[in-house]
Amino acid sequence: MRMTRTTSVLALTAAAAMLVGCASGTPDNPGGSGDEGDAPLYEVAENVDLEGSPTYDAMVEAGGITIGVKEDQPGLGYLDPVTGDRTGFDVDIARWIAASLGFSEDEITFQSIPSANREQAIVNGDIDYYVGTYSITDSRKEQIDFAGPYFVTGQGLLVGTDSDIASVDDLNADTIVCSVTGSTPIQNIRDNYPDVPTQEFATYSECVEGLLNDQVDAVTTDEAILIGYAAQDPDNLQVVGEPFSEERYGVGLPLGDDALRTFINDLFENDPDTWQAIYDANLGDSGVEGTQPEVDRY
Ligand code: GLU
Repeated sequence: MRMTRTTSVLALTAAAAMLVGCASGTPDNPGGSGDEGDAPLYEVAENVDLEGSPTYDAMVEAGGITIGVKEDQPGLGYLDPVTGDRTGFDVDIARWIAASLGFSEDEITFQSIPSANREQAIVNGDIDYYVGTYSITDSRKEQIDFAGPYFVTGQGLLVGTDSDIASVDDLNADTIVCSVTGSTPIQNIRDNYPDVPTQEFATYSECVEGLLNDQVDAVTTDEAILIGYAAQDPDNLQVVGEPFSEERYGVGLPLGDDALRTFINDLFENDPDTWQAIYDANLGDSGVEGTQPEVDRY
């Protein structure tokens, strides 16, 4: 037992507060920049030329945009429980797209949606698009479309600093591995490591709690996510081994909205400097490696 539940929650919150200090775009600073006073990372577009997108037409009609994100993944998609600020690489990618569609920060409504509910939220029209460590997969493409990819990472393992687990090869029938319902990593463990017992929660922060409380032996998901948790609590948490999958992050969109998909793909392709600035502001010092991938106009 390394920490009590309460101290680990406090440690996570305190570390998260430090981590978000370097992040960006707030209602006062809609351009999403590193420090107050820096030049904005992107401008809110004025003459948007987007024909034939039912999703965009609905946004214009509503006078605002609703974006699905994560809220417990530091460095990627995080909601500060004290200030209410949303920060992270994914959140700033979401803001950049909104700005390019002509929407300023005060016209954005963010909705936190866990992994298992993403497709349904898009299909139902609860959100206009989703940006949150969302891997492009063929089975998801049956229900929704993806712009991107805008980032590539791979599945990894988070364990305690005193753990004997050094890589995925050390998982066995006696090691409980935690991941999230509806995610690609839990499916990968089930399909390819069927002897390894799994514990499922709705969110990765619940898995991290379980790890800190010795209820599980490892947490598995994308390394980019795990590095964010390890950075908050390096005395107790470490990422081990090599990535054992490829996760290509896309922007989840309503199925068949090709005009919006092309618009976002064009944005990614035509403005690599903004991509880089968003990466640098959020992940530059994090140890999460990344270069902008080519978009896939499938
Ligand atoms: N990228 C993986 C997925 O889309 C894991 C991360 C997540 O659950 O958001 O399932």
